[in-house]
This record gives sequence, C-alpha cells and structure tokens, in this order.
Amino acid sequence: MTETTSLPAETHNPASGTIALVTGANSGIGLETARQLLDRGVTVWMGARDAEKGRLAADALGAGARFVRIDVADPASIDAAAEQVGDLGILVNNAGVNPGGEDIAATSLEQLRLAYETNVFGLIGVTQAFLPSLQRSAHPRIVNVSSGTGSLAWNSGPNPQFDWDRVKGGGLAYRTSKTAVNAVTLLTAQALGERFKVNALAPGLRATNLIPGMAVGGDPAEAAAGAVRLALLPDDGPTGALWSWDGTRAPW
Ligand code: NAP
Repeated sequence: MTETTSLPAETHNPASGTIALVTGANSGIGLETARQLLDRGVTVWMGARDAEKGRLAADALGAGARFVRIDVADPASIDAAAEQVGDLGILVNNAGVNPGGEDIAATSLEQLRLAYETNVFGLIGVTQAFLPSLQRSAHPRIVNVSSGTGSLAWNSGPNPQFDWDRVKGGGLAYRTSKTAVNAVTLLTAQALGERFKVNALAPGLRATNLIPGMAVGGDPAEAAAGAVRLALLPDDGPTGALWSWDGTRAPW
C-alpha cells in the first residue's frame, strides 16, 4: 500500500460520463460531496433512505443529480439500488450514524448494533453490491467516510486532532465502528489491487445532523472537498490509506 504522506493538490479531471454514488447524500457531508462532484461534471446518484428527503436534495442540486433510494442497513434496498444505478465509477460510502452511548459501562448493545449495522455492515454491503459495476469501470474509486475518532493511533494518547483527555474511553459504539471502517478500507484496498483507489477519509468535526442538537464544527463543504479529492485520484494516486480532509495522511 502507499507510502505517500500527502495527496496531490490538484484532482484529476474525471473522464466524461463518470458516474458516482454517494450514500446518505441528502444532508451534511454527503450533500456537499454530491454538489462538488456535480460541479466537476460527474453524474451523481444521490442515495437517501428517505425518498422525500432524497428527491428534494437531488432536485435542489439540479442537472446531473439523480435520486436513488438506498437504506444501507437494508440489503434488499441495496440490491434494488445496484440494479437501478447500473454502471458506476465512484462509490462514496458516506451514510453513517452516531447512536450515542459513552464508555464500555454506559453503552448498550443496541447502540453498538446500530452503529455497526449502518457504519460497518452497511458500508460492506453497499461495496459488495456495487463491486461488479466498479470492476467494469476504467478508474474505479471507493471513498469510505470514516472518522479520526476511529484512529487507534490518535486514540492511544494525546494528539492535536481532538481533546484526548476529555474523550478517552468514550464514544465506544461510534468510534469503534469507524475503527472497523478503517480496517475494512485497508483490506479492501489490498484485495482489489492498485487499479482501484480505495481510501478512507477523516472529515474533521463538522456542523451536521450527525448528533441531533449538537451541530458544532466546521463547514461540511470543507470535508466534502477531501472526499472529492479521493474520488478523483489519478491512476497513479495512493490506495489503502486514511486521509485527513486537508489531504494529509492520518495514522490508522
Ligand atoms: P448527517 O448530516 O447526519 O449525514 C448522515 C447521512 O447518512 C444522512 O443523509 C442520513 O440519512 C444517512 N444515513 C444514516 N443512516 C442511513 C442508512 N441506514 N441508510 C442510508 N442513509 C443513512 O451527518 P454527516 O456528519 O454529514 O455524516 C456523514 C458521514 O461523515 C458519516 O459517515 C459520519 O460518521 C462521518 N463523520 C462526520 C463527522 C462530523 O463531525 N459531522 C466527523 C467524522 C465523520 P437521514 O437524513 O435519513 O438520517
């Protein structure tokens, strides 16, 4: 896998006719990623589990945006979406939940199951369903929207990314689900080889709906720019790594 420590500043121009799917594209980082891919001339399937929210979002972004219903926690809806979408060059696995809970003593199995069902099994299920289409693509790209809070290196001690003393040991369900996403990203990249570019994104803290009532953080568009950079990597770009939203390498 790659030794590179920063991404090329310039994204490559997508070939005409490039088609992307962004899951959870009706809000937050997913919506902004869809918007920026459209600006780059990519046709974007905007995945949403709620048809009304998804249609509204696709209508708002206009030409080139298409809505597809996809609940990543529902295998039947994933299969139906794969059938509807057909050809695909870029998969952005963005849909995610933070079901709350705190440390090991204050997290229910239900919260853990919800986090893993959506963030991990959902991501794997979508990737598997779209793999045949991606394999037919000339420049297949997979971007897994992970989190720096899932980095075992950053979770192991004080670091500049987050207030480790305050959060250490907490957020068991969400953070370990993102650690699993990181591991799945690495092994997927290894299995698919250098023709694919499979990378994970640490988007930084963003003001979105992820934690209802707690919309703190920076502009989701900035995180989306990081996702787009990974989605439009050139053929000699890196695969099998975790990247911060600003294009610098993050430790697993
Ligand atoms: P958001 O605005 O809440 O977006 C999450 C999206 O995922 C929504 O569209 C949501 O749909 C969708 N979703 C949830 N469960 C789903 C399911 N079962 N099937 C399909 N879609 C589903 O929050 P966000 O911050 O943009 O989150 C996007 C990604 O960034 C997530 O993977 C999150 O873990 C990651 N992330 C965010 C931050 C941050 O600070 N915001 C930091 C690190 C990582 P509904 O609208 O129907 O709920």
